[in-house]
Amino acid sequence: MVISEIERFLSQLNDKIDSRVGNKIQEAKKQATFDGEEYKANYLWCLYQIYLVQKNYTEAFWNMKDKKYESAWILLDRADIELSFLERHYKNYFGEFIGDKYQLLYIIQAIKRFQMLFPYRLFFSRESIIKEEKCSICGEKIRLRGGCKHKLGELYNGEQCSYVVTDCQLIAISIVTDPFDKYTFLKIEGQEYNYQVIEFLMDNIESPYDFWKVEKISVQNPNYKNVERNDRCPCGSGKKYKKCCMGTSNEKMDHFVFDISRNKGI
Ligand SMILES: [Zn+2]
Ligand SMILES: [Zn+2]
Repeated sequence: MVISEIERFLSQLNDKIDSRVGNKIQEAKKQATFDGEEYKANYLWCLYQIYLVQKNYTEAFWNMKDKKYESAWILLDRADIELSFLERHYKNYFGEFIGDKYQLLYIIQAIKRFQMLFPYRLFFSRESIIKEEKCSICGEKIRLRGGCKHKLGELYNGEQCSYVVTDCQLIAISIVTDPFDKYTFLKIEGQEYNYQVIEFLMDNIESPYDFWKVEKISVQNPNYKNVERNDRCPCGSGKKYKKCCMGTSNEKMDHFVFDISRNKGI
């Protein structure tokens, strides 16, 4: 597969992404490195990232169709992370992150919209002290001065330089509402998540690139309608309403307004 074929493939609205395309890109990248064509290898790294973004995103879509919401969530998050790696280098090879040749802008927006519909609100965040890390390109230990010549995040022969942690100490796990990495959401024992909103949407769209929009608004939870101050609180705490949920966000609930049409793209 030559570069123009890869570009053509990635610029179509593919509902599913064959992993053989990924293998072809990796092969072409290896060849470019072998031939000493670093610019070409780095360009192929970008195409591979685009492939990963499209693959994770479309797989997330089909997982939602199959009601496999937890794995869909993880795939959406992965697509988001691959996008953040790509963004740094995209400009050098393709120009601005605009002009949606590879559906990237569509996917960025779609990930945000889908994430909004998920019922996960709390996430684990790990804090740790890094004791030792190595350069992913040359394997040398990272030092403050006099380390290797590679720069974090830069591309070298089609590979991105990252620091690989080889020794670290976990100091705390905290629960947060909006971390960068939303991979590990908090699961409360016995708590059933409600996926009705996503289910409704998925019944009404057919492809990962269908047009849809959603607006989240906060409305009064009907359970709290006509409750008197001294009544028992509808939340089931056993306390009086005025000493419990009155005036708190518990009285509100999310309401989603959809705009769905059968056209592809934004
Ligand atoms: Zn290095
Ligand atoms: Zn209450």
